[in-house]
Amino acid sequence: MQHFSIPALELDEGDDRRWQERANCLGVDPDLFFPERGASTKEAKSVCNSCEVRLECLEYALRHGEKFGIWGGMSERERRRLRRQRALARRGIAG
Ligand code: SF4
Repeated sequence: MQHFSIPALELDEGDDRRWQERANCLGVDPDLFFPERGASTKEAKSVCNSCEVRLECLEYALRHGEKFGIWGGMSERERRRLRRQRALARRGIAG
């Protein structure tokens, strides 16, 4: 899965990445997941939609602050929004 063999693999020791072996994008052109600005993300998201490790992938991207590409079926912008919502929810709970 070239998608994950991008430089990002400076991972924490002990990070469990076995879920990547079950990724739907294994063998899929990684460029699909890193579309040019303004290009469609539909095709990548359709691969993610039926991926059984979608949640693991999304959480991985959030945890590692992945800024580019489609992870867990979400674009950078969608992940940013989700991070903001979670931060607000945490503050709501804490406050
Ligand atoms: S959710 Fe998408 S990017 Fe993540 S492993 Fe599955 S197919 Fe790949």
